Amino acid sequence: MAWPCLALACLMSCGQPDDVPAGSLDALIPQPQQVVPGGADFRCDGVLSVSWPEGWTAERAVVESWLAQAGIRVQSVEGNEAALRFVLDPNESRAEAYVLNIDSEGVDIQAGTAAGLFRGWTTLRKMMPVACETGCSGGFTLPGVAIEDAPVMEHRGLLLDGCRHFQDVEFVKKQVELLALHGMNVLHWHLTEDQGWRIDVPSRPRLTEVGAWRTEADGSLHGGFYTAEEMREVVAYAAARHIEVIPEIEMPGHSSAALAAYPQLGCTGDSLEVPHRWGVFKDIYCAGNEETFRFLEEVVDEVAEVFPGPRVHIGGDEAPKVRWAACPKCQRRMKEEGLANEEELQRWFIGRMGRYLATKGKTIIGWDEILEGGLPEGAAVQSWRGMGGAAEAVHLGADVVVSPTSHCYLDYPLRSTDLEEAYSFNPLPDSLTHGPGRILGGEGNMWTEHAPQELVESKVYPRLTALAEVYWSGPKRTTKEGGYADFLSRLDAFYPRLDAMDVAYGLEAPPFAVATQSGDRGGLQVVVQALGRGVEGRGEWTGDGRTISSDAPFEVYGRGDVEMEVGRRGTWTGRVESFPLDGHGAVYAPIELGYDPSPWYTGGGDQALVDGRLGTGDFRDGAWQAKQGADMMATVDLGGVRTISALETGAYLYQDAWIFMPESVLWEGSLDSTSWFVLADTGPSAVLKRNDRQERRVLQAPLLEPGLQARFVRMTVSNAGPCPDWHAAAGSDSWVFLDEMVIRLESEP
Ligand SMILES: [Zn+2]
Repeated sequence: MAWPCLALACLMSCGQPDDVPAGSLDALIPQPQQVVPGGADFRCDGVLSVSWPEGWTAERAVVESWLAQAGIRVQSVEGNEAALRFVLDPNESRAEAYVLNIDSEGVDIQAGTAAGLFRGWTTLRKMMPVACETGCSGGFTLPGVAIEDAPVMEHRGLLLDGCRHFQDVEFVKKQVELLALHGMNVLHWHLTEDQGWRIDVPSRPRLTEVGAWRTEADGSLHGGFYTAEEMREVVAYAAARHIEVIPEIEMPGHSSAALAAYPQLGCTGDSLEVPHRWGVFKDIYCAGNEETFRFLEEVVDEVAEVFPGPRVHIGGDEAPKVRWAACPKCQRRMKEEGLANEEELQRWFIGRMGRYLATKGKTIIGWDEILEGGLPEGAAVQSWRGMGGAAEAVHLGADVVVSPTSHCYLDYPLRSTDLEEAYSFNPLPDSLTHGPGRILGGEGNMWTEHAPQELVESKVYPRLTALAEVYWSGPKRTTKEGGYADFLSRLDAFYPRLDAMDVAYGLEAPPFAVATQSGDRGGLQVVVQALGRGVEGRGEWTGDGRTISSDAPFEVYGRGDVEMEVGRRGTWTGRVESFPLDGHGAVYAPIELGYDPSPWYTGGGDQALVDGRLGTGDFRDGAWQAKQGADMMATVDLGGVRTISALETGAYLYQDAWIFMPESVLWEGSLDSTSWFVLADTGPSAVLKRNDRQERRVLQAPLLEPGLQARFVRMTVSNAGPCPDWHAAAGSDSWVFLDEMVIRLESEP
């Protein structure tokens, strides 16, 4: 009996073919280079004979385990007798290339390498009915097809930041499995950071006793670390799927957690805490202290033991040099080594650690800052600040990985980088294909400042699904006319597999936009538009508790929030988007601005201060209108003399981003727009006092007396002046952000 699977299929299933789920070519992401459908289907009745290639042990276990959970019984047989044949082809030299053929007699996967066979298996898995992800013991059919495939780029990865928020080992392994599903081959695992050290180094116990834990602003403790055994488990799990785990050990910056554990490694020796705030910190490893290098060598020894791959990422980004400039030890080092400045000291630092890693058989990758002060020999560069670093590194002959903030930052909100933006990324612009260096590939970067474990998948997917296709199938395919539409149709067929794998993937684009206009009955007319494919909304206007739904206009008076639950593809997600609004007495009154708003922060246009849309806790939400280094004056015409009952405006505070409270807010009224009298004046406020907060503040302006009447109302918001001496940008013009000119009238309903 040549084809046991086929024979049994006829015996057991011919009477009820409808019960057998059918696979398809509809959900292939990344899209293989060549797919030729046709020929007879292959049918399996639930028993599959498989022939395995030599040496394919860990991979075989992965495939067998998947077939077992699908309920398919595997019979291992030799050679051509099998219905599923994995065959090593000595004539194929490309690392991950494979050929996959399906006809009525079975499935043939051929490749030159074990990795290629695994990629071929992954494509087969995506052709299997989704039902098989959870169980298809009754069998399945697969369409006849001939596929030839190979990745365009050799480095296709995800950066996972395990430091800003810790993820447990099972979660990390799940992400590795998802990388495998996407044909990706690198997990770039970010393991040391200011806010947490995650690697157990037995000779340095304080790293995990102290450095792995931080006290959050609310007093709770956050942290965790991975033992060598746990990291080996992840590495082995990844290796079985032909995924390289590249550990990232940050140096010389982003090292607060290590310095909290061992303060003597810093320039000042001062003790510090593992910070809970985000940002860039000035305390970094002292480059003049030999103890620093003994420490880092011990860390590297441990890392080299646990991670057998050829590469280690050493960070190198965002390392302020203020401590080095003031440190006698660092200055002495610069003199001894003949280094002209602190940037060259960083190159020396990275170069020294690179040479040490070379003795362990490792090469280094660093963020594009390592180009400053000269690229350390043999280092590869990961370009994140646009593609400029990539161009420079290629010019210098280096290997390059690209993950620019413009397309690849999966932690960024969808309004910055939506799915289509990610898909449009071209990691191989023509200008960078002519050496002497080389673009190896790219990554999607998942930083977790704002993403505890339970939110990570909602940010990574489906945007990484798009990047996976960009890196595998290549920009020639993804940037072509109609490429995105074709991707979306396959994505629709791909989602059910993510559902079956319990992936909490997020949206493709911001779900809603709020549009306002002047209402027929004197209020604010609002419509919450559902954006994106398959999105709808239901919710409440908190102003009076009424039920609302997307795309249905309603009119409001006074302050309230739109609370809208996101529905997608017919399912209510429980995720709620909130939009603060104010249907005050001056909405859509004619307004004149005495300034040009920043083109980056218009708040939506000239009417932003009377459009009823208030700002949120995010100054980039599109509702804020801003101006740098100048006062902001705006005048509205109420259309007739009215009695004013209250005045207020909202301003944003975020001093680290140079955004200060206004110095003062003066409100004036006029009957004829010629002679003006004061309605209210907030007076000078202590705006330049140092303040760590990042928030919207309401600036209420108490009226000088009740019953004041005006037709014209003018608001003058004074800029706070240059950033003060204590500020990182001392002397630079500060910003003022305003959201609305709220004018309440006596006769408002
Ligand atoms: Zn120093």
